[in-house]
Amino acid sequence: MTKSNVSRSSRVKVGGKNSVEPCACCGIAPDPRGRPLSITFEQPDVIYQIHPALLETWGGDPFLAVKNVGFFLRVILPVKLDGGFAIDFGTWLEIDNEDFRAAWQTWNFPEYKDLEIEGYVANQIAPFDRFPHEMVKVTVREPEQVPYLTSSEDEVFAKLLTDTWPHAKVLAPYADLLKSEPPLEG
Ligand SMILES: [Zn+2]
Repeated sequence: MTKSNVSRSSRVKVGGKNSVEPCACCGIAPDPRGRPLSITFEQPDVIYQIHPALLETWGGDPFLAVKNVGFFLRVILPVKLDGGFAIDFGTWLEIDNEDFRAAWQTWNFPEYKDLEIEGYVANQIAPFDRFPHEMVKVTVREPEQVPYLTSSEDEVFAKLLTDTWPHAKVLAPYADLLKSEPPLEG
């Protein structure tokens, strides 16, 4: 992961000041409406390993094809955290050509809700250990959202999706982004 590969989703207006105080241990405030925090990986990691002169892509976000590399779909990895926190990592799933086309064709139609795709997570997400090259499944929770990682037969991913993780440890790599506030003086 390079720092430039992550960003925070835009702050949503909630009317008035935050009703939630920052956590005493880490200084990060849970979302005032109880929604997961959100960190987005802008591109699959492999993009950064390709010399720009050799990089040929089609599409962008949420559908990205990289010539001679593969097909990538924007997905969400939801992680449960303790202390009233949760985080949604916006990441990428490397999928096969046929699934890429199927997702593309149903994306804006009612059939989208039944979309199920298996593939490989295309970002290393700190602070978790290096992900194994194992299949995970994504499904659709809400028609307006990209698919969510929901299950995997792999132990590492199954644990990632079902356990509740210590928030201070998981959020630490993103603390600057999550705490960033406008400067006090211009
Ligand atoms: Zn904390």
